[in-house]
Amino acid sequence: MPARKTVDILEALVGFDTTSRNSNLALIEWVEAYLDGFGIAHERVPDPTGRKANLWATVGPAAVPGYILSGHTDVVPVDGQSWSADPFRLTARDDRLYARGAADMKGYLACCLAAVPDMVAARLARPIHLAFSHDEEVGCVGVRALIACLRDAPAKPVGCFVGEPTAMTLVTGHKAKRSLRATVRGETCHSSLAPRGVNAVEYAARLIVKIRDIADHLAREGARDPLYDVPFTTAHTGTVRGGSALNIVPDACTFEFEFRSIAADSLDALVGEVTAYARGMLEPQMKAVAPHAGIDFEIMSGFPGLDIAPDSDLVDLGKRLAGESRHAKVAFGTEAGLFAEAGIPTVVIGPGSIDQAHKADEFIAAAELAKCGAFLDGLIAHCRKA
Ligand SMILES: [Zn+2]
Repeated sequence: MPARKTVDILEALVGFDTTSRNSNLALIEWVEAYLDGFGIAHERVPDPTGRKANLWATVGPAAVPGYILSGHTDVVPVDGQSWSADPFRLTARDDRLYARGAADMKGYLACCLAAVPDMVAARLARPIHLAFSHDEEVGCVGVRALIACLRDAPAKPVGCFVGEPTAMTLVTGHKAKRSLRATVRGETCHSSLAPRGVNAVEYAARLIVKIRDIADHLAREGARDPLYDVPFTTAHTGTVRGGSALNIVPDACTFEFEFRSIAADSLDALVGEVTAYARGMLEPQMKAVAPHAGIDFEIMSGFPGLDIAPDSDLVDLGKRLAGESRHAKVAFGTEAGLFAEAGIPTVVIGPGSIDQAHKADEFIAAAELAKCGAFLDGLIAHCRKA
């Protein structure tokens, strides 16, 4: 069973509706007041609007390299989902704790906060930092400013544990992602005069087929990483919008596509293949009919992948603390890739299951919180020793 205080803190955290579109400041204030109770220094890294903030706090000697416990404070919307109870009130049933964010990932935040008194009492030789971010669920947006601040930190952290729900399995990798919007500009005319126009829908279709060809090639003979459920890089087009009536040659079409790559593949190269096809093959044909026609690309979002060496010190430590000898890679993206990109060794390990995340009646098993508590007890013991 998890400590009572962990459940109490989780109850407080899920009470704040920190859906990504909302401010998270009320939750941040609550955490600050909690940390103040133990005399812990903390610092906000606000977003440009001032409506949201990341929170950074350090227990122990700040000038010594230590470990980061990283989690996001925002949650996905409950809109359109059918919940059996109020999603912003913790409900306990059959050793499970239900609420939006219980698994993803306020359960982890609660475990970290509940461990603070023990961190303080331990007189740590190496510090433990809390890095609580905003706007993770909308593309790992918030944490970037916090990571930028770490460049000025008195000592570079030696490791970061991102507590996304992995059922306390140590995760050493996730794919990188980039999503893009393509806007095809054509030339309209009556459909009976079709060859005089530039049909934006048709050129979009040709580009979408190209993206699919790249995906098929990767699936057939691309690089492999057997630790992933889908062991190769994928590409996919998710939306297409264009055209208004059958008797009009459409002059505009937009579509959105994405790549999710394993470490062996380069997102720049893959996106480059698509844009080169647009520039070299399609645009000359379009411009031959209408010089202003063309295709624009805009990056919508993305994050770098994670791929830490399985024999690294942090992986060893994480496995020892979790009492696990195996490691895994996961399909979902996290902030871990951004910490790793900043040169901080990072793994993903946290309580609860990703299967429950983002769904109605999201829950975390009480036993998961207890396991995470034991993991953090071990980390505190590790950081006690100089
Ligand atoms: Zn999450």
